[in-house]
Amino acid sequence: MSATILDGRALSATIRGELRTEVERFREKQGYAPGLVIVRVGGDAASGVYTRAILRIAGEIGVQARVEELPALTSADELRALLLQLNEDQRTHGIIVQMPLPAHLSQKMVADTVTPAKDIDGISPGSAGNLFLGLPSFLPSTAAAVVEILDRHHITLAGKRVVILGRSNVVGKPLALMLLQRHATVSVCHSRTRDLTTLTRQADVLIAAVGRPRLVTAEMVRPGAVVIDVGINTLPGGGIVGDVDFEAVREVASAITPTPGGVGPLTNVMLLKQCVRAAWLASGHSEEPLGLSASQA
Ligand code: NAP
Repeated sequence: MSATILDGRALSATIRGELRTEVERFREKQGYAPGLVIVRVGGDAASGVYTRAILRIAGEIGVQARVEELPALTSADELRALLLQLNEDQRTHGIIVQMPLPAHLSQKMVADTVTPAKDIDGISPGSAGNLFLGLPSFLPSTAAAVVEILDRHHITLAGKRVVILGRSNVVGKPLALMLLQRHATVSVCHSRTRDLTTLTRQADVLIAAVGRPRLVTAEMVRPGAVVIDVGINTLPGGGIVGDVDFEAVREVASAITPTPGGVGPLTNVMLLKQCVRAAWLASGHSEEPLGLSASQA
């Protein structure tokens, strides 16, 4: 058997097209575009690449995005003051603060300060709490990207056994809650999990978010399982691979995401989708205009 390839680039293009239409509809109704502000402190090179990628997609779909560049020596009070000002700004619907921050600034302060209504990457305790309770919420964009891939390929989750490798706050944990919401039976594994293969071989859907190149081998996968690879690992000699041994596992799985070209291209698109949703909600639309509710079954 050779698995169906779950093509993240193609899906990203489809969703960007949908968002373009949605942003146009918003503009016609409101007279202005959804607004996004990306805050960068200290000019980290990797976050610069990430920022440019978000700006490119924002420009393509018509979201008004700008970057607030702050010097590395910005104090916690100054950063907090900017975030409070953006919380109040009626034309800013989504706020992202790029990580990593300089050591003297706290990620917790940022998460506590950005208002949940503009927290489009789902980092705040309020967003996490809503997700926990199954209430509508903004979601961490990588976890949202995984669920979007499963949904768009009509991979049903109710009653399925899902095994997630990784328990980070941005991927593994929120994903577990989102899949539980969709009635899957979810196991979350981590670095202390014993006898990983026994667990992974039980999975109807296996999701790897570990950060270990090709950790998941063909022997760890139940024939016919769906395999989603979140990992992005740069090899010492160059080249990018996922957490899954793609070439071997594709012969066993029924469907699989490639790396690159799987989850990665969808992550920023999900961020912008949530920005557009935030704009609709801020303009008084209480319904779920883009179907991103955490409680969606
Ligand atoms: P992270 O915070 O480093 O978490 C990694 C998780 O994997 C931890 O829970 C860790 O366990 C677990 N783990 C480590 N070694 C393991 C092993 N041998 N067996 C089982 N579990 C193990 O990483 P992250 O931020 O969630 O990211 C995970 C991967 O996804 C990375 O490769 C990252 O680059 C990629 N990523 C991709 C996107 C995207 O857009 N596609 C976005 C974000 C992240 P402990 O908790 O016990 O330490």
